Amino acid sequence: MDMKEYIEEAESALLHTYNRYQIVLDRGEGVHLYDIEGKEYLDFCAGIAVFALGYHNREYNDALKSQIDKLIHTSNYYYNVPAIEAAKSLKKASGMDRVFFTNSGAEAVEGAVKAARKYAYLKDGRTDHEIIAMNHSFHGRTMGALAVTGNPKYREAFEPLIGNIRFADLNDFESVERQVTDRTCAIILETVQGEGGMVPAAEEFLKSVRALCDERDILLILDEIQCGMGRTGYMFAWQKYGIKPDIMTTAKALGCGVPIGAFLMTEKVGQNSLVAGDHGTTYGGNPLACAAAQKVLELFEKNRIIENVREVAPYLEKRLEELKDRHGCIVERRGTGLMQGLKFDRPVGEYISRALEKGLILINAGADIIRFVPPLIITKDDVNRMIDILDGCIGS
Ligand SMILES: *Cc1c(COP(=O)(O)O)cnc(C)c1O
Repeated sequence: MDMKEYIEEAESALLHTYNRYQIVLDRGEGVHLYDIEGKEYLDFCAGIAVFALGYHNREYNDALKSQIDKLIHTSNYYYNVPAIEAAKSLKKASGMDRVFFTNSGAEAVEGAVKAARKYAYLKDGRTDHEIIAMNHSFHGRTMGALAVTGNPKYREAFEPLIGNIRFADLNDFESVERQVTDRTCAIILETVQGEGGMVPAAEEFLKSVRALCDERDILLILDEIQCGMGRTGYMFAWQKYGIKPDIMTTAKALGCGVPIGAFLMTEKVGQNSLVAGDHGTTYGGNPLACAAAQKVLELFEKNRIIENVREVAPYLEKRLEELKDRHGCIVERRGTGLMQGLKFDRPVGEYISRALEKGLILINAGADIIRFVPPLIITKDDVNRMIDILDGCIGS
């Protein structure tokens, strides 16, 4: 079948929940993807901030292959070595104390919310606790994760979601304070908002929220699913701010393509929240997914991934600023590290389609922002090639 025929098959078989670009991808190599007709694309999407190590990483692939031949799944009735090793590595990378593995980001958020509610329940026995979340946030598509996602468009048709969620504005501490009541059990936010437009939390804001949480024994949940795993030049974005969450979530780049997420907590929360029988998953923490995560964490260190982000990110930022100065339709550059956005004064869909034709994969974040979340192994040359192509797609 050729590409057009495959796409017709897809449209007749799959539920129409995605507006897909009209290409069928076949394989990847480093920072490049190839469609089934052999056309090469420079990839600045990385499977939505997932493929940090780049495609076809030999050591990663070999680790997966050997785990497949050993053991793929066991269930959580038993221990398995990859999960033990991955948990240990993740604790070391994050400084958190307890790990629960999930299969996706949304599930990590679900678990985080359940842990927070249980913590509050054990304290006062009430069942009407509230959670404060941010406007323009994104935490996933399951009912619980959707309930804390600050985008009414994603939520409305699926109401009622879990109740007692109040929304405040990121980087407006007073708006958070206004939502606090004696029933508030948690504040959840992305350390850098992704889908909502590549907006980092301000240091002052985060520190104030942390202090508020300490004062009122409210749990701070940081969603690091997109901004974590090295993307901002720190293993987890909050590590830059000198604060620490009580609970954090990770996923996307954790498995570099194999579906795995996790929520992590401090010992204080670990000892006073979820116990046997409270939470579980059949697949979560299975040997194959954990072997992937373990190898990813190992290769992050070995290949000096974070060092590369710190070297290339300022250059990407500079080139994006220059692009902005050349084109009046670009209003603002946003973001941090290799998590950048360009905000336009118009919809960006047309630019992204043109870029795709010219062999560059980009995605949006909202209608008017182009999002740059490349594999973390990109070089300055890759940045130059991306800028050259995009420059030609924008016109003046
Ligand atoms: C992608 C994302 C999620 C949801 O992860 P899934 O694996 O798609 O369920 C949650 N939070 C943030 C910040 C994300 O970027």
